Amino acid sequence: MENKFDILFQPLKIGPVTAPNRFYQVPHCNGMGYRMPRALAKMRGIKAEGGWGVVCTEEVEIHHSSDLSSSIEGRLWSYKDIPALALMAYSVHEHGALAGIQLVYSGHNASNLYSRSTGFGPRSVGVNGFHPRQTRRMDKEDIRNLRRWHRAAAIRAKKAGFDIIYCYAGHNLALPMHFLLKRYNDRMDEYGGSLENRARLLRELIEDTKDAVGDTCAVAVRLAVDELLEDEGISSSGEGHDIIAHLAELPDIWDVNISGWENDSATARFKKEGYQEKYINFVKKLTTKPVVGVGRYTTPDAMLSVVERGIVDFVGAARPSIADPFLPQKIKEDRIEDIRECIGCNICVSADNLSVPIRCTQNPTMGEEWRRGWHPERIHIKKQDKEILVVGGGPAGLEAARVLGVRGYDVLLLEKEREFGGRVICESALPGLIEWRRVADWRLTQIEKMKNVSLYPSSPMSVDDILETGIKDVIIATGASWRKDGLGRHQYYPISGYSLPNVFTPDDLMGGKMPTGHVLIYDDDHYYMGSVLAELLHQQGCEVSIATPAPQVAYWSQYTLEQGRIHQKMLKADIKIFTQKILTDIQPKQASLLCSVSGQKTPIDIDSVLLLTDSLSNDALYQALKPSLKSRKLNSLKVIGDAEAPGIIADAVFSGYKVAYAMDGEVDRNMPFKVERVRI
Ligand code: ADP
Ligand code: SF4
Repeated sequence: MENKFDILFQPLKIGPVTAPNRFYQVPHCNGMGYRMPRALAKMRGIKAEGGWGVVCTEEVEIHHSSDLSSSIEGRLWSYKDIPALALMAYSVHEHGALAGIQLVYSGHNASNLYSRSTGFGPRSVGVNGFHPRQTRRMDKEDIRNLRRWHRAAAIRAKKAGFDIIYCYAGHNLALPMHFLLKRYNDRMDEYGGSLENRARLLRELIEDTKDAVGDTCAVAVRLAVDELLEDEGISSSGEGHDIIAHLAELPDIWDVNISGWENDSATARFKKEGYQEKYINFVKKLTTKPVVGVGRYTTPDAMLSVVERGIVDFVGAARPSIADPFLPQKIKEDRIEDIRECIGCNICVSADNLSVPIRCTQNPTMGEEWRRGWHPERIHIKKQDKEILVVGGGPAGLEAARVLGVRGYDVLLLEKEREFGGRVICESALPGLIEWRRVADWRLTQIEKMKNVSLYPSSPMSVDDILETGIKDVIIATGASWRKDGLGRHQYYPISGYSLPNVFTPDDLMGGKMPTGHVLIYDDDHYYMGSVLAELLHQQGCEVSIATPAPQVAYWSQYTLEQGRIHQKMLKADIKIFTQKILTDIQPKQASLLCSVSGQKTPIDIDSVLLLTDSLSNDALYQALKPSLKSRKLNSLKVIGDAEAPGIIADAVFSGYKVAYAMDGEVDRNMPFKVERVRI
């Protein structure tokens, strides 16, 4: 039968190689890199299995003088690094996809904290990450060396089995881009001045790579065509356009995006699907070479449209391929409703920023493919017939019920509210978070197809209710509630005045109980909730201030690349920000903030206070049911998600998958995952 998406499954030539279709996993970081090559190879291989026609690495360091520690990226410093990367190329080839490698020399983005080498660039400049050291200005010998290293790395990449070899000039993270940018390049030689001169290094690297490996490998260029800085940087109406025009036919494929990373990987709170199109749509007009672009495309119609309208030849994706490694296959099999759409939360990005293995809110198997043997589409079937009761239909309960259902168990999922989804339903109604609903929607769509999983909404369960069902295996997923007394990271005792009627928690607001007047938000949570509620209150006409013990508003959101935009939003809405302040007491019309640096207390006039401090697990049912294990009324009892320990949605989904995977004790509890160790 003809599929309207057939065009997306056409094979397409990229220089000397041919991609089996137009689904292209562009390079993306993952926190595993050189340190966990087996885990990485397995993860990438599963994407190829799921139908991605091209699967790329993350940035791969070509030389020790461009060492990206403490980030964990790829490494191809010498021939000794070939086997680890060959593992990935092999695992991608096993499923018929092309393997791409993004070679990088990072200039001032490399800290060199491990190698203790001196990095270099067009001029000497302070290195990224606020490290108190600078690069040095490159001389002609350095440029010759760099070209030699890049060429040698390309040859090693070919030996490792890669089909597409990148020259990377994107995100303001790579040396060729630093040469392109006037703000870094003040050189008076043939590598500085005119655009032609500033593009010389990139041109030479492309030519060297083609010369070295171009007979059998395609050469890709990843270029940021717009930095969203207007005249201050590269832009699609300025030099972004001119660089493409200048080098148009040189690479075998253009992988174009916007810079920096926070723009390229903007979250759903700030940018919608296809947000890069307006910046990259000129590229195909200037070149006959294939073009790949991204923009968090999760819907097949949007993918089809961006190809049919001639904006790109390949649909590029990082996050959509993380949330659903089988997205292409599902389109091919016309199983559109099965696509697990990315919610644009950037928890995946946070893992790389924190140098830990990648994870995903929607796809709990991401990063766990090798060490736990998890697969996004397959799981072992049950060992024995069993009926399982899951209490609480938030992300944890929904995921547990879904996965137990796939394993073949009979599952009853009981939820107190009329609607399933728990915190996701409440939070997705807040400004900018609508796409988070997908966490519940996708799981419900899947569950509704299973005859062995029954949903019972409007079913608040007590201990007696649970025992009366006669079901002997019980999972408690009853979530958590925000604390009302202000205890948290920086507050060890209840805040004086917390029980006054003008003191609120996020649960109050999400339940429709709104403060009025001047609201002081005390944010000791540090992620999205404080700023999202500030936005909500501002929309409702309140005057809003935020106080936080952290040095920045929404401090943790730096890891999801949102902190800058959140701060900007707060400033635009005239929301006052007090950093490094601890709330010490609340009165009807006043609150006191203690400066954690000076020790000085400042009173501020308020009408209401909103406390975002710790949460309390709703684990009363679990605690009360424990004796039933001893008395054998129950065979097993588990507590998962926020009811076990409050955390982010990704943690709750993960715990739901984990409990379902391990049902019947098939996991070694002492060591539940494999560890990649250095062999001595
Ligand atoms: P998590 O993130 O761990 O899944 P949530 O707070 O999102 O936690 O979801 C917990 C769900 O459990 C909520 O939808 C809540 O209504 C439900 N719930 C809490 N207590 C009970 C109960 N006694 N019986 C049934 N459902 C409950
Ligand atoms: Fe998308 Fe969030 Fe998963 Fe990243 S973690 S792929 S942004 S759902």
